[in-house]
Amino acid sequence: MKAGSARDDVLRLEGVSAAYGSHEVLFGVDLRVGRGEVVGLIGPNGSGKSTLVGVVSRVLRPTAGCISVDGGRIESFGRRELARRLAVVPQGARLPEGFLVAEVVRMGRTPFVGLLRGAGAEDELMVERAMKQTGVWDLADRPVEGLSGGEQQRVVLARALAQGPRVLVLDEPTSHLDLRYQAELLRTARAAAASGVGVLVVMHDLNLAARACDRLSLLSDGRVVVEGRVEEVLARPRLERVYRTEVEVFSSPGGPLVVPRV
Ligand code: ADP
Ligand code: MG
Repeated sequence: MKAGSARDDVLRLEGVSAAYGSHEVLFGVDLRVGRGEVVGLIGPNGSGKSTLVGVVSRVLRPTAGCISVDGGRIESFGRRELARRLAVVPQGARLPEGFLVAEVVRMGRTPFVGLLRGAGAEDELMVERAMKQTGVWDLADRPVEGLSGGEQQRVVLARALAQGPRVLVLDEPTSHLDLRYQAELLRTARAAAASGVGVLVVMHDLNLAARACDRLSLLSDGRVVVEGRVEEVLARPRLERVYRTEVEVFSSPGGPLVVPRV
């Protein structure tokens, strides 16, 4: 399902700038993710992708511009209110130690559980569904310390899905995964989109991005250079300019294939 009008946007950034002290990193970034859409954020190392994830998750306050989630400005939400709408898996996310897998995934329900409302059947159902979707159901009773990097990455995603968010933001979620789990993770992201979630995924691998995303946004030195359909964005001259290296772009049934010339 592709997004239609701006009214369907579940995540929107308008003119967003950000800096670490005096070091400016993002310059007037516009980006939108519609309901049911998977949007890929690509760009060279240091172009500001994780910084963008940081401002969306309110780890970093933008110096200009505005960000809205599910139609409301992010600063208007309380922490729990925001967490019910937006789930973020940061780059290299670590799991809290000393817990079992199922306990960690259950933490995704914390924004919904309060003093007046303990965890109920619906929460358990969301937890179970998220664990099955990410293939960690069989790991439920395992301590998280004993898991491989790839298994941990899937548990982190399960916790995010258990939040039942409107917007899911993933920063390089496939980095520790082998081919099978790369494919499964991206299929899971697509399944979340098919159920109406807007997904923003930061991808290092252009070829995976080409296969998993409806649209791509290419960042270079903190600016969006181009945004649009996969084939439009992954054009050779532009990639060579932005990545400062020669590349070859082949067409294949699954989408463009980008290979650096060595
Ligand atoms: P990407 O995720 O695209 O690789 P980042 O958003 O992590 O890029 O980094 C963008 C720029 O911001 C880089 O120049 C990086 O060195 C700088 N940067 C990132 N995090 C911090 C930080 N915590 N403090 C200072 N500078 C940072
Ligand atoms: Mg990064």
